[in-house]
Amino acid sequence: MTTAGPLGLPWPASAERGTDGAVRVAGVDVRDLAVAQGTPAYVLDEADFRARARALRTAFEGACAQIGAEVDVYYAGKAFLSVAVARWAHEEGLRVDTATGGELAVALRAGVPGADIGLHGNTKSDSEIARALDAGVGRIIVDSLVEVDRVVAAVRARGAGAEPAPVMVRVTTGVHAGGHEYISTAHEDQKFGLSVATPAGGGDSPAMTALTRVLEHPELRLLGIHSHIGSQILDPAGFAVAARTVLELRAALAARTGYLAPEVDLGGGFGIAYLPGDVPLDVERIAKEVAAAVDAACAALGTPVPRLSFEPGRAIVGPTTLTLYTVGTVKPVTIDDGRVRLYVAVDGGMSDNIRPALYGAHYHAALVSRPGSPETVLARVVGKHCESGDVVVHEVQLPADVAAGDLLAVAATGAYGRSMASNYNHVPRPPVVAVRDGATRVLVRRETEDDLLALDLG
Ligand SMILES: *Cc1c(COP(=O)(O)O)cnc(C)c1O
Repeated sequence: MTTAGPLGLPWPASAERGTDGAVRVAGVDVRDLAVAQGTPAYVLDEADFRARARALRTAFEGACAQIGAEVDVYYAGKAFLSVAVARWAHEEGLRVDTATGGELAVALRAGVPGADIGLHGNTKSDSEIARALDAGVGRIIVDSLVEVDRVVAAVRARGAGAEPAPVMVRVTTGVHAGGHEYISTAHEDQKFGLSVATPAGGGDSPAMTALTRVLEHPELRLLGIHSHIGSQILDPAGFAVAARTVLELRAALAARTGYLAPEVDLGGGFGIAYLPGDVPLDVERIAKEVAAAVDAACAALGTPVPRLSFEPGRAIVGPTTLTLYTVGTVKPVTIDDGRVRLYVAVDGGMSDNIRPALYGAHYHAALVSRPGSPETVLARVVGKHCESGDVVVHEVQLPADVAAGDLLAVAATGAYGRSMASNYNHVPRPPVVAVRDGATRVLVRRETEDDLLALDLG
């Protein structure tokens, strides 16, 4: 018999199993939620979101104060952005990072002041840049020489007397992280950023070229250098290496031009728990280690510490959310080694969580509407889409009596779940329902078939 009590990681902070065997999140019974909202649904624990945002901000503020540095924490909106969560992040003292005009529109609709918004993206359109300047964004992170020119043109188009655009240059340090270890290479074969590596024939690195180009233009104000080394990072060492590399570049630029860039952004990517037993990256520890690395590098280079910024997305919203599904069918399948795997098909799938199919991400699931039998079976949770790769959870032990009509929850789906959702098979996207103190509030409503048909002009 399942004992009552908190579910613990990887579930939302307030998730607990009642003595009747059903799960509550923030005091809301998932069975009531399923009746009121339908399934599938993303269920987001608001207090957990706010607490994680606050914990990250205070950890970085505390660690940076130790080295005399100011710091800004940006919520990376691409992980999941809605008007309400942008507001929560801002209320908790964070700024908001956007990567497209669409994300910018959400942050502005939320009332986040332009000065507290950053605009990313490796190929921003003229219109996205113009809208960012109209909004007075705090920074535009440029990702190529083409974009340097594009931002200059956008400022000129605003006429004489236009404010210079505040820009950062995104660089690649050769540090890649994501998973347990980081790797370091000289040349990077990917689309983001400008390399700090010197070309084989000598001369300036692409990063140095872009930084000096920015300084040549009165239409631009160089805030600093930006580095984002990866995602779902569990080993803090990569951040320290990247920080040193960026600070060396900042010092080299100052030696060359006399301009000491005031800011350095070290990106996001802090890892979370997806499975029971996973150990998330400790925010206090990462903040202290990165601050210490910045302090040591600046001391060695003889430069003052910059204002720092960080951009966590997943670490704020990922753990706060579970996806609630209804089991449609169960099917025992005998696999090669003679074992039986129970295929548990739910009413969603790759349209609401593409990450397992996209990059083999692993998730955890549990029966949440009742305790289920103490005896368990090896199960695979699959979706309803016409694709054999439509797997939500590759392998999980579920109660042996799991059956059609049961509610199943998948943990830690808050980041890159709804934000990457699609309408594959013309499946309407699920709602995002916030729970707090026993109450529910729909943040993003469920799409309907009429919504989808409205796009079809016949
Ligand atoms: C994706 C991204 C982030 C957020 O990454 P998380 O893994 O969600 O923390 C931050 N900064 C940049 C530039 C990104 O591309």
